[in-house]
Amino acid sequence: MSQPRDVIIVGAGPAGMGIAALLRRSAVQDILVMDSHEVGASFMRWPEETRLITPSFFSNPFGQPDLNTVTPDSSLALFCGEEHAGGKAYASYLNAVREAYQIPVLAPARVVKVALLSSGHFRLTTETGEQFETRVLIWATGEFQFPDRHIFPGAEMCCHYADVSSWKDYGKGEYLVIGGYESAVDAAVNLLENGASVKMLTRSAPWSSSHISDPSVSLSPYTRERLNNAMHHPQFAIYEDADVCKVISTPGAGSAYEVHTTNGSVWTTDQVPILATGFQCGGGATQLSAFFEWNDDGYPVLTDQDSSTLFPGLYLVGPHVRHAGNIYCFIYKFRQRFPVVAESITRHLGLSSEGLRDWWALPPEPDCCAGDSCAC
Ligand SMILES: Cc1cc2nc3c(=O)[nH]c(=O)nc-3n(C[C@H](O)[C@H](O)[C@H](O)COP(=O)(O)OP(=O)(O)OC[C@H]3O[C@@H](n4cnc5c(N)ncnc54)[C@H](O)[C@@H]3O)c2cc1C
Repeated sequence: MSQPRDVIIVGAGPAGMGIAALLRRSAVQDILVMDSHEVGASFMRWPEETRLITPSFFSNPFGQPDLNTVTPDSSLALFCGEEHAGGKAYASYLNAVREAYQIPVLAPARVVKVALLSSGHFRLTTETGEQFETRVLIWATGEFQFPDRHIFPGAEMCCHYADVSSWKDYGKGEYLVIGGYESAVDAAVNLLENGASVKMLTRSAPWSSSHISDPSVSLSPYTRERLNNAMHHPQFAIYEDADVCKVISTPGAGSAYEVHTTNGSVWTTDQVPILATGFQCGGGATQLSAFFEWNDDGYPVLTDQDSSTLFPGLYLVGPHVRHAGNIYCFIYKFRQRFPVVAESITRHLGLSSEGLRDWWALPPEPDCCAGDSCAC
């Protein structure tokens, strides 16, 4: 095993690369980012047609960094020339950040085990058996690669949104899309564009939510607009109060699947039902479940500096950070925590934290994003 590093960041998505870029500007120089696949791996695995719902715009010179960037001096709009970039463009942007800040990345390197040593350091073991020791561990493993495939009996037979490479692989048949938030609408609109018929089964109607100021609990304007345009499509129907409780495979019967709801309704389909009900609560943080306390909603309990309440050298960055009802599940939200985390880490390592807050020059946390569930 090599010498202990100052900081290892597990996960090379926007959370991991963003905090790494900030640390590269700090007194902490000995950092390593590890990823099980590559930089921007989750974005590389988005369906081909999926676009960021938050718009990109080069507003940086006026003190408002582009909403989708992980450093205040970069702009996704400038980088890729699109307002709503796709996953592969976003992964290229993260690679550009890696180059600009010369961030050391080891990939592929899946961390399969973390152990706390008597020195207070962490020992990480990869699936190939390599071991790394670090004083500070930042866990940035996101949610996309942790789909919830067991949300009700039979869910494992469905096609989860995260398993779709391109909606073009799906034919013109009749599809049942289970879910009513961002990914369900995205699936429905893309299937309709292919000429398919779509029935969307949803237990609520987030498009009529009163929390319209926060895209974490209601549909984003981008998705609302797409839904409004699809609403009168002759091959599209939405069934509200359709709380799906099980899916049964019925080979040999008139159709391949039965989808049951709690109110006793049954839908049948020959196409595999599309599961757009989200990701495992706690996402990638569940890989380190013993290292965090967990609240009743299934999120890690964190200190005010986003470290584990059990292990002071372990930090969480990304969409599972929650504080006082604030949901940090969008890039423009969770990047606000980078200076707080970086400052705490430099102090933990006995280094200077001077100037770390200035780079982002962030205003106080907004209270407009209060809520108790995440819809993205
Ligand atoms: C369809 C869709 C659209 C979205 N649109 C927007 C949007 O418009 N705007 C917005 O702000 N947010 C959007 N989001 C949410 C946003 O994508 C996530 O909040 C963001 O990607 C989280 O970043 P992350 O770095 O935490 O996770 P990820 O991007 O998932 O990165 C985590 C990384 O960790 C790696 N990893 C996981 N486990 C291990 C391990 N054990 N060892 C090593 N590496 C590991 C993975 O390979 C991955 O590269 C969207 C999400 C989806 C699914």
